[in-house]
Amino acid sequence: MDIGDKTSGFLNRARLSRRGFMKASAATGATLMIGGALKPSLKALAQASKDPAKAAGEWLPGTCQGCTSWCAKQVYVVNGRAVKIRGNPHSKVNGKASCPRAHLALQQVYDPDRIKTPMKRTNPKKGRGEDPRFVPISWDEALDTIADKILELRKNHESHKYLLMRGRYSYMRDILYDRMTKIIGSPNSISHSAICAEAEKFGPYYTEGLWDYRQYDVEKTRYILIWGADPLSANRQVSYFISAWGDVLDRAQVVVVEPRLTATAAKADEWLPIEPGRDGALAAGIAHILLTRGLWNKEFVGDFKDGKNRFVPMQEVSEDDFEEKHTYGLVKWWNLELKDKTLEWTGAQTGLPIEQIRKVAVGFGEAAPRAISWVGGGPSMQVRGAYAGMICHALNGLVGAVDNEGGTLAANKEYTGKFPEPDEFFDDISKEGKKYGKIDHRGRKEFPCITSGKPGSSVVTNRVAEGILNQDPYEIKVAIAYMNNFAFSCTQPERWERALSKIPFLVHITTNASEFSWFSDILLPNAHHLFEKWGYVKVANHGYRHVTLLQPVIKPMWESKSDETEFPWLLAEKLAKKGFTNILDHYRQYKDPETGKEPTNEKEFSLYALKYATQNLWDPAKYQGGDKFEGWEHFRKIGVWNSAPYPYRKRWGEMKTKTKKFEFYSETLKEALEAHAAKHKTTVDDILETCQYLARGEQAFIPHYEPPFVNGNEKEFPFLFVDHKSRLNREGRSANCTWYHEFKDVDPGDVRWDDVAKINPLDGAKLGIRNGERIRLISPTGMIECTAKLWEGVRPGTVAKCYGQGHWVYGRVAAKEFGKLPRGGNNNDLIPAFYERLSGSTVRHAGTRVKIEKVQEV
Ligand code: SF4
Repeated sequence: MDIGDKTSGFLNRARLSRRGFMKASAATGATLMIGGALKPSLKALAQASKDPAKAAGEWLPGTCQGCTSWCAKQVYVVNGRAVKIRGNPHSKVNGKASCPRAHLALQQVYDPDRIKTPMKRTNPKKGRGEDPRFVPISWDEALDTIADKILELRKNHESHKYLLMRGRYSYMRDILYDRMTKIIGSPNSISHSAICAEAEKFGPYYTEGLWDYRQYDVEKTRYILIWGADPLSANRQVSYFISAWGDVLDRAQVVVVEPRLTATAAKADEWLPIEPGRDGALAAGIAHILLTRGLWNKEFVGDFKDGKNRFVPMQEVSEDDFEEKHTYGLVKWWNLELKDKTLEWTGAQTGLPIEQIRKVAVGFGEAAPRAISWVGGGPSMQVRGAYAGMICHALNGLVGAVDNEGGTLAANKEYTGKFPEPDEFFDDISKEGKKYGKIDHRGRKEFPCITSGKPGSSVVTNRVAEGILNQDPYEIKVAIAYMNNFAFSCTQPERWERALSKIPFLVHITTNASEFSWFSDILLPNAHHLFEKWGYVKVANHGYRHVTLLQPVIKPMWESKSDETEFPWLLAEKLAKKGFTNILDHYRQYKDPETGKEPTNEKEFSLYALKYATQNLWDPAKYQGGDKFEGWEHFRKIGVWNSAPYPYRKRWGEMKTKTKKFEFYSETLKEALEAHAAKHKTTVDDILETCQYLARGEQAFIPHYEPPFVNGNEKEFPFLFVDHKSRLNREGRSANCTWYHEFKDVDPGDVRWDDVAKINPLDGAKLGIRNGERIRLISPTGMIECTAKLWEGVRPGTVAKCYGQGHWVYGRVAAKEFGKLPRGGNNNDLIPAFYERLSGSTVRHAGTRVKIEKVQEV
């Protein structure tokens, strides 16, 4: 069987139009025509291949969404073809900087394995072993079929059985995700957020009222203590940090707490290879040292009334003796949690040398307030991660780094607007449908999901698989999904394979045929975010926030349409033709702010909607702050708006907590947990027990340490599994790029064109495993094969493996045999579908034990 046969289901049967074929040839470098017969795009290819730097082209603005750094970029375009990428120098968030994976976007957009045209499934059977046998269809036929399925649901008063699933998005998202779903009449708009990093926001929210990522003021800091994050490799602001880190290391001490030697740890002053799941213990130990040595920040926290430090190990303190300024509950925190977290206790809990712990704690305290406790997904995306993230973040409160120079900052103000409200377009069917409970079970007793203080307010992405499988609370009959791949990116993805097989009608909008696509009935080609669509995103870093535009800068490839604007407009048109005009009538309100014109087609809609949402940034008559523009064209050419600089210490005394202070005893969390308990007529203790937390009584409301909840017994599964990201991983979409495999060894310990499990040489010797041997990693939930890499950069007793390989679809490079054989192993097969239930997040860290076996070669 040759490659063509292997990929036939998705790739070869997509017969192309002549126009599409020409583009295919240009993109893949197939040279069927020569000389004067070349089309402009092919000429561009010829020119570009000679010397892109000298070819006559122009730098056009765009935005990279290879991760949620969302860097403003410029793309060098020659005759409609992108040949180079660099940072947009107008951005104050990332400037000229570019991370290595930005460049992989070129291979993505010209990937010959992209979906080129709409396709429909012809094999009614669904399953991993069932080739969908896709055949190409027109956009018209695809939309017609989708519209019929939606109208059938509505006719039968089953609109709640419609499900919208979202992966990578821009801020045009509400058009499809929110407005269309609501007007159809479904409560089920499901984002990917909970498999990403939601739990990371729990700590900042329940201490300082900030449900968001933080900015870290690295230019002014003197100490950076990083927990389970790798800013030189993965999320967030990688471009900027890569370019700034040399200076950061000159100015500040950098300490990385992580069981694996990350790219950041390799350059740090100290690496603390902690046992997975023990971050909270170390944070408690550090807080104990800061208090017993009087190293808290008096300006932010306050002091003992008589100036005498009464924080003595093992001794309670009277609340009356301490006067707090911008914080709340410090003494309660000490009495309930910190007083007995001595250095010896911390060393025993974390497996770290006590001298190293002492040195780091004192160094961190002495740098206050220019000291950052930087909390990533490592501590927080665990079963008991909410409190672990909270206690790590609480260190920022102790040293007065919150909202302060050289510390942790919220996002700057920006002035984009909302799309029109849809309420007047709800009919009786949609009103009735929206009242049903959601398919992800949020708000049930076992899923408090207390985002932003409100029970049941955050998504439980991974739980949707169970909702579909068990028809709980009802069957899902029609689903549309875009730029997600839950059948690969969620833990225990096999559940998703079964769940997706059960949905009678599934539509997937994506650039490459992924594992998720395999189960779909209609497959639609999506535009690439950096080169082919209108949109905007906003992000903060470096003391600024930018709003950066996604713009079509190249001749579009294939027959792709934008997921969040063109597709919903076209579907709304189709529904209107069949008599359901509400969505189209709503979309017609997105008028061009410059001319007042209503959109008449999908292209106008995309552009007008973007101008509508961003008008306050570019219209001089609506100016509210930050960069000033002369009008839309000016903004479009620059491509990015920057906010005013960060107003330090503005939130001191104005935090969005119940007490308006930084809460070491969280009245905000108490209110949220009590509200959830009351809803289920039970106690907070019962809720915490249900969610697998150990805290009881008052401990529920303070940052504290709990030992990790781990799947698998130690005897049978002796190693703790450490999942990590690659600096080349474009949100799990790099695996079909040859550059990803070619340069894979930029990740410390990894190997080119291979998928390795990194094992400490001491463990390798015990197991008799040598470098380069094929091994099997087996957990209680799954098994994968990969190559052994003996490496000192992992803590003994742990196995570290990079996420991103193991695709059995996605493209001819990503899979070993398309549709059948994966290249490498998917870490998610090993990780159980566990949750951090207070936030609804999927667990990725410290929850999995594995055993290692040699593969017997035959
Ligand atoms: S991959 Fe992430 S850090 Fe790199 S350029 Fe794109 S958005 Fe920025």
